Amino acid sequence: MADPTDGPARLTILEEKVDVEGAREAPVRRRMSHEEWCHTARERFGDDSMEWRFQCPRCGTVQCGKDLVAAGVARDKLDYVLAFSCIGRFDPARGCNWTLGGLFAIHTTEVVFEGGVQPVFEFAGEDSP
Ligand SMILES: [Zn+2]
Repeated sequence: MADPTDGPARLTILEEKVDVEGAREAPVRRRMSHEEWCHTARERFGDDSMEWRFQCPRCGTVQCGKDLVAAGVARDKLDYVLAFSCIGRFDPARGCNWTLGGLFAIHTTEVVFEGGVQPVFEFAGEDSP
């Protein structure tokens, strides 16, 4: 079909498929409210948030707040580090230097806070060490 009027019509269809909002809500990435996220963490790991365990999406290292403090992260900085930057950034003997603040987005969960949306590491699997 060499009908030149095909062109614009097809473009319109493509634009409909690449709906921006739909792409952002792709099923590979889930979005939870902060309450929902904390609730899930408590159910899995208990009330002590220092024991909540997360898995780096790049190297797979499981880490918790206690591990990060032991690696030298100040307690008042934990909120910015836990589930966001790999322990390897603080302890070169473990993990890797991944952070979700970088250029490549390979995380699969986002948490909605009042101030916006924060990418986070996945919770560690129940059978992780
Ligand atoms: Zn890592």
